Amino acid sequence: QGSLVCVGTGLNLAGQITVLSQSYIEHAEVVFTLMPDGFAERWVGRLNKDVRSLQPFYAQKGEVKNRRETYAQMVAAIVTQVYLGKKVVCALYGHPGVFACVGHMAVEQLQREGYRAQMEPGVSAEACLWADLGVDPASSGHQSFEASQFMYYQHAVSAAAYLVLWQIGLAGEHTLTKFHTTSDKLQVLVELLQQWYPLEHEIIIYEAATLPIQSPRIETLRLKDLPNARLTDISTLCIPPSEKLTLNHQALTQLGISADDFG
Ligand code: SAH
Repeated sequence: QGSLVCVGTGLNLAGQITVLSQSYIEHAEVVFTLMPDGFAERWVGRLNKDVRSLQPFYAQKGEVKNRRETYAQMVAAIVTQVYLGKKVVCALYGHPGVFACVGHMAVEQLQREGYRAQMEPGVSAEACLWADLGVDPASSGHQSFEASQFMYYQHAVSAAAYLVLWQIGLAGEHTLTKFHTTSDKLQVLVELLQQWYPLEHEIIIYEAATLPIQSPRIETLRLKDLPNARLTDISTLCIPPSEKLTLNHQALTQLGISADDFG
């Protein structure tokens, strides 16, 4: 019977994949990939003799295509090989199930149909972000959202915690057909963020290195300058806290402790 394992390859080429995930790729009968660039794609190509890129399902030059359709076609391609009885691996960059729907959809569908399907964790962009920024998110707690979803829905933001916005380069791109946001849309986001942060607050555009020879991009700018920032499809926005944590006196009373007890 066919089976599926979704694995993550990490962000940085060849070094951030787990031993287990690499072994799944090497022993698969069919490997599907979604990699950040041609280097990574060629590297996976050397691990297995049947490696098929999912990249061609994205809109090609001049084509207008909704990303929902792209994802449905990717899932269909993956599950079809499982139906054919193949041992299939889907290798996605980063963590295969963090801000990425294709792996989840394929695993869910196959499990529902009684096939063996599972996901292995990988090193995500956010895992790299905390390492490169030298921040332990436990220091204040953190929240993360997909940038467009953050704009479309009501969210309760804590300005005392870190805020991470994924896909900032696509913020407000509701048609799902284009691959970039606009400064007008970013201006709307800035106005939204103003509820919690001053316009002068320093924010960080982060891009992890995807090749061992690269350094990460860590660019600090003021919130008000976000609409003119250079954003790409690999940019992640990180907003450090603008406020200090405040004590929850009610909970402390209930616990029978005071701030001095935990320092
Ligand atoms: N599954 C991936 C994320 C896919 S969603 C993971 O685990 O990392 C795509 C978003 O991830 C991008 O818009 C960006 O916010 C983030 N991302 C992808 N590559 C990145 C990189 N090299 N540096 C920083 N963020 C990145």
